Amino acid sequence: MHPEDNEEKWFSGKGLWSDVDEEDWNNWGWQLRNRITSLSQLEEYIELTDEEREGCRLSNSKLSMAITPYFFNLIDPKNADCPIRLQVIPRVEEMTTSQEELLDPVGEDEHSPVAGIVHRYPDRVLFLVTDRCASYCRYCTRSRMVSNAQDYNFHPALEDGLAYIEQNGRIRDVLLSGGDPLLLSDRKLDYLLDRLRKIPHVEFVRIGSRIPVFLPQRITLELSEIFRKHGPIWMSIHVNHPKECTAELKRACEQLTFSGVPLGNQSVLLRGVNDDLKVMKSLVHRLLMMRVRPYYLYQCDLITGSSHLRSNISTGLDIIRGLRGHTTGYAVPQFVIDAPGGGGKVPINPDYVEQISENEIILKNFQGKTYRYPLLGGTIGHVPNIDGFRDKILT
Ligand code: SF4
Repeated sequence: MHPEDNEEKWFSGKGLWSDVDEEDWNNWGWQLRNRITSLSQLEEYIELTDEEREGCRLSNSKLSMAITPYFFNLIDPKNADCPIRLQVIPRVEEMTTSQEELLDPVGEDEHSPVAGIVHRYPDRVLFLVTDRCASYCRYCTRSRMVSNAQDYNFHPALEDGLAYIEQNGRIRDVLLSGGDPLLLSDRKLDYLLDRLRKIPHVEFVRIGSRIPVFLPQRITLELSEIFRKHGPIWMSIHVNHPKECTAELKRACEQLTFSGVPLGNQSVLLRGVNDDLKVMKSLVHRLLMMRVRPYYLYQCDLITGSSHLRSNISTGLDIIRGLRGHTTGYAVPQFVIDAPGGGGKVPINPDYVEQISENEIILKNFQGKTYRYPLLGGTIGHVPNIDGFRDKILT
């Protein structure tokens, strides 16, 4: 057995809820009904800092707090800097809005032709189908509209959204998001996917969900059967730290992939959570072991009240530089900034190109060594024969 694949590494279990029936614990309805949503509940289990206590008191005026018992078990109650805790327990810093922060940081509202649809790129749409999540991330880009902010479950304009997609023949790809689409019942999801897959120009559906991470119990055989029936369906999950890679998440990912759902992961670069090469390397290795391809690493959007969680862009670039070439290519996500104001995702890459001249391109590899490659019709200039490369291309 590989040392990284031992039982202890993937362990999570019932933890603080050890007296709960196995059947209840594994029931996603039970997990939702028993979420931690108030300061008094939190204080039963954990000693809070003053900043957290104040954050909890104020959270309902902004983004509600909710944490499933399963995910709560991953928190280290003795460590105020626990990377899981930083993601889901409110802090008073959320109430401070910096000058550069925006309520709608990536300009979605401007690109919304009908309620619930964001149509930014020509051939695909984002379809926001619910305003609820199993737990709430303190850095949520859509905090203006999730956590019952608009008090709907199934989006009230759902039929308008479906009609928009039906009438726009250029839309070949629909991304379901919200809130979290996997919080909809099996019946509703089946209906929605059936409607979308009946539209001839929709080639496939993507789902963005953090449910496998917050509530892996939701990934049932019945749900997998719905995905199998309506495929191709692609899914992006959202794991930020290796501690989230539990036996339960691994089982959920395997269940999804065995049902024909390819999985990618989108992480957000967060200060104190994953802005560290060692942490990120461990995360991407664990993702691959769960059959999940690291897809994007996002620079945190300029969400109101997020400055305490945002890390530097140079830190993200250092992480990518530390992964590229040093580990499996599949393990390296694309670092992106979702351009403020609605410009879409822009890839940010460490610079491996030193110079492009008339005849050649000069490159630096992952070890910092220089190599040259001739441009079409060009030859390699009068340069030292680095590592024998010139001889190789001239013979
Ligand atoms: S799961 Fe997604 S939509 Fe829900 S709070 Fe987290 S980031 Fe926002």
